[in-house]
Amino acid sequence: MLIPGGVSSPVRAIAPYPFYTRSASGPHLRTVDGDELIDCCMAYGPLMLGHAHPVIKAAILDQLERGWLYGTPAPLEPAFASLVTGDHPGMDMIRFVSSGSEATMAAIRLARGFTGNKEIIKVEGGFHGAHDGVLVKAGSGATTLGIPDSAGVLPEVAARTRQVPYNDLEALEVTLSRNRDVAAFILEPVMGNIGPILPKPGYLAGVREITRAHDVLLIFDEVITGYRLGIGGAQVHYGVRPDLSTLGKIIGGGLPIGAFGGRREIMEMVAPAGPVYNAGTFSGNPLSLSAGVAMVKWLHQNRGIYRTLEGKTREVAEATEGVRCGSAVTLGSMFKFFFRDYPPENYIEAKECDTAAFRIFWDKMLKRGIFLPPSQFETNFLSAAHSEKEVDTICTAYRACLS
Ligand SMILES: *Cc1c(COP(=O)(O)O)cnc(C)c1O
Repeated sequence: MLIPGGVSSPVRAIAPYPFYTRSASGPHLRTVDGDELIDCCMAYGPLMLGHAHPVIKAAILDQLERGWLYGTPAPLEPAFASLVTGDHPGMDMIRFVSSGSEATMAAIRLARGFTGNKEIIKVEGGFHGAHDGVLVKAGSGATTLGIPDSAGVLPEVAARTRQVPYNDLEALEVTLSRNRDVAAFILEPVMGNIGPILPKPGYLAGVREITRAHDVLLIFDEVITGYRLGIGGAQVHYGVRPDLSTLGKIIGGGLPIGAFGGRREIMEMVAPAGPVYNAGTFSGNPLSLSAGVAMVKWLHQNRGIYRTLEGKTREVAEATEGVRCGSAVTLGSMFKFFFRDYPPENYIEAKECDTAAFRIFWDKMLKRGIFLPPSQFETNFLSAAHSEKEVDTICTAYRACLS
């Protein structure tokens, strides 16, 4: 084998081996074995308009003609910055990077640089990419110090990251009142990497209040929810303004991207304006930005898509009604069938799902031509390319494979 585990990112591994994709368009993946699959994974979130959408393709082709990497500023950067900050009330300024991981890493460093404090708090089971400060084992609880969730992460680094359960304001309050050295609380406003797990009414507003009272920055990791829950992501959907936000996935139109942004006085700390270092050869590259501009403009011009997709995921959820082995959750174009009596409200509850049952179900769905993310703990996505026809096929498959 030439590649560790045969995959470029671990979630793509499927025992005994994953299928390989030859091409993709609209809602479909075509495998090297000649199968056509309806894709409900959509590359784990970025492909809001489906695969190879003509509008994004045209933007990329147009940019290719003018070169794809300049190493100098270009008009696309302020243009896209203006679009994205204009959509997000929590963003006065923005810096583009090349991945969501880079964005959260930079936002956390910035929070430390701004506050002068050392620790961060994250939500147990929340995912913020693959860097050391956020690879902390879940289940270590609120009051203990974090322990590494990966070999090679220094225990002294993980110990700077505390965790609280999602949807638990009291745990956050207690943790903050016991620890004075906290720079930021970072969370996915909707837990997308183990769900979706939805915020209880008032949770996000409570988080805002508590972090403000303790003088701790609130970072919304909107890498999934940005432009997924609607224009302006979770901060607009739930009406809660974070100090810093991170974006990725959808804003690149399917090309690599990340971004972090927030209040002006904080963002002015970023180099070269300020002392917090952030840099990247491919940061703000014209190819990703042109795809991103095309994506965001399309969403602005087709705002109805959010309601349409919400209706479609609801249809899928309705197809599972009366099924006794679990429960469905939907939010906008995100959906999931959990093999658990009630939808989980946090990581510990999510872990109670019957993963063996999920695996059998997943195999059956694939045989019927539906590709779901190969984990009980990954959100399923619909895109603008999923027509009523595909949704019907998905619903029929859910009914057949869950019975
Ligand atoms: C995907 C994801 C990341 C990491 O983004 P990459 O582009 O894969 O580095 C960070 N945070 C959240 C919430 C994500 O879903």
